Amino acid sequence: MRCLSCRRFSASLVCPKCRELYLRPYSRVRRLDTGLEVLSFYAYDEIEPFLLTKHLPHGWFVYRILAREAFKALKKRGEGLAVIPVDDDASGGYSHTALLARELKRYGYRPRFASLRARNRVSYAGQPLAFRLANPRNFLYRGSGKIRAVLLDDIVTSGLTLKEAESVLTRADVTVHSAIVLADVDR
Ligand SMILES: [Zn+2]
Repeated sequence: MRCLSCRRFSASLVCPKCRELYLRPYSRVRRLDTGLEVLSFYAYDEIEPFLLTKHLPHGWFVYRILAREAFKALKKRGEGLAVIPVDDDASGGYSHTALLARELKRYGYRPRFASLRARNRVSYAGQPLAFRLANPRNFLYRGSGKIRAVLLDDIVTSGLTLKEAESVLTRADVTVHSAIVLADVDR
């Protein structure tokens, strides 16, 4: 096959040279106004071409490469922490957040699949903040309480989705430790 990025022949969809050039992760923490700390590994702009493959047939493979490269920058293991993928619905062929959660298992996090689902999946892409505020995700949490958990998503933009998820989980007696995303639009 050919590398998606440089088009040279490669054994994987992103060749080692391009991983080194474009996918070397740098972890950074953004604190939302609720106090929630969001750990990211890339600036959105840096890896946008890779993220835009999400809904393409090879998106699953690209997302797994992104996850494996990104999580190399994790400084702490997740022992004792559950990880709750945000809306890990697979109706698009696969769930990108469930894929990320499976990759976090290597680092000691315990995934709680299918526990946090959005009842509103209207697309936020390109929409202004007012639209996002007027169309909340309306999450339903079906998991257990009395756990410590990390929220997991692929991208953070305004932070509204994560804040809404945090609020639903907190009401269900989950202690939300922090959030992990691949890319932050705001860095
Ligand atoms: Zn390449």
